[in-house]
Amino acid sequence: MLLIRSLRSGLRPSAQRSAFSTSAAAVQADRTIREGPRNDWRREEIKSIYDSPILDLLFHGAKVHRHVHKFREVQQCTLLSIKTGGCSEDCSYCPQSSRYDTGLKAQKMMNKDAVLQAAKKAKEAGSTRFCMGAAWRDTVGRKTNFNQILEYVKEIRGMGMEVCCTLGMLEQQQAMELKKAGLTAYNHNLDTSREYYPNIITTRSYDERLETLQYVREAGISVCSGGIIGLGEAEEDRVGLLHTLATLPTHPESVPINALVAVKGTPLQDQKPVEVWEMIRMIATARIVMPSAMVRLSAGRVKFSMPEQALCFLAGANSIFTGEKLLTTPNNDFDADQLMFKTLGLTPKAPSFSEEAKACELERCKEAVSSSG
Ligand code: SF4
Repeated sequence: MLLIRSLRSGLRPSAQRSAFSTSAAAVQADRTIREGPRNDWRREEIKSIYDSPILDLLFHGAKVHRHVHKFREVQQCTLLSIKTGGCSEDCSYCPQSSRYDTGLKAQKMMNKDAVLQAAKKAKEAGSTRFCMGAAWRDTVGRKTNFNQILEYVKEIRGMGMEVCCTLGMLEQQQAMELKKAGLTAYNHNLDTSREYYPNIITTRSYDERLETLQYVREAGISVCSGGIIGLGEAEEDRVGLLHTLATLPTHPESVPINALVAVKGTPLQDQKPVEVWEMIRMIATARIVMPSAMVRLSAGRVKFSMPEQALCFLAGANSIFTGEKLLTTPNNDFDADQLMFKTLGLTPKAPSFSEEAKACELERCKEAVSSSG
């Protein structure tokens, strides 16, 4: 009984053994700090970090986080579903799949005024990145809708926000058009390990997902890709997901870590909720193996208290979704998030192109000084 309790609370047998020895989290975090991002991670290395005693893992995730990032800064993103429901795919966790009876009505794509209004509201509430999601397998054969989205991207970028889209699989040409329109990032999650993936989705392959990520990368758009825990996967699958992401030729700029929000009517409706220790393990491991990425505490955050979220930030998370909803599931209350920022001393992260702009300005300024001298 005692053993079961300690396992549930995040301890594991290795914690006993390594109480007086240096953990893999400590060794690898120091290496990351010394050598910077690596793409040659072996799966066993990531597993040994992941299996380190939880407080040690958390501490070393925090150490890498503080070395690479401004540790109080947290990016605020708003995710809006611009085309909800009626999706042909069979992702077992998703209430938007037309295959499951979740009571969600399929809707047409939102018009420009409504989308821009939502972006404006998000900006006023402190968001610096606006992400638009559409429940599609892909955008092939949706020329009119795709062109409209290009228009939305241009407009929102013009409002001084970073813009992200999640529209399903992309073709190379579409990735290039999105880049031209000013898209900052494209989200396409791998969801879980390659091995467990067929238990969750059968209508598109793992390799198709990776292909979309490659097109996004080649187009010069930031890659946002992570996964979901609590799908019934083993811990080995969580390690497998992180291993795939950490061995991509370039690490994703954003890695969302989602905890399943089980929705009635989906095949995963009876999954037990993810505990905060599981999130901390994922976040700290992601931070150590992909040090430069924005690690996003994403879906499921609504279930965690402020102290629990504080531990996630300490472990290395530095991005959240704000706003009433995350696509179709509830999200944290605006006032509660404001209070959390104040209580924890967090500061909102500015959009990154403004930093680029500042750097250019500085460069121009230096040039002006040298030419006048
Ligand atoms: S996750 Fe995306 S692709 Fe899968 S069913 Fe939901 S909307 Fe469709």
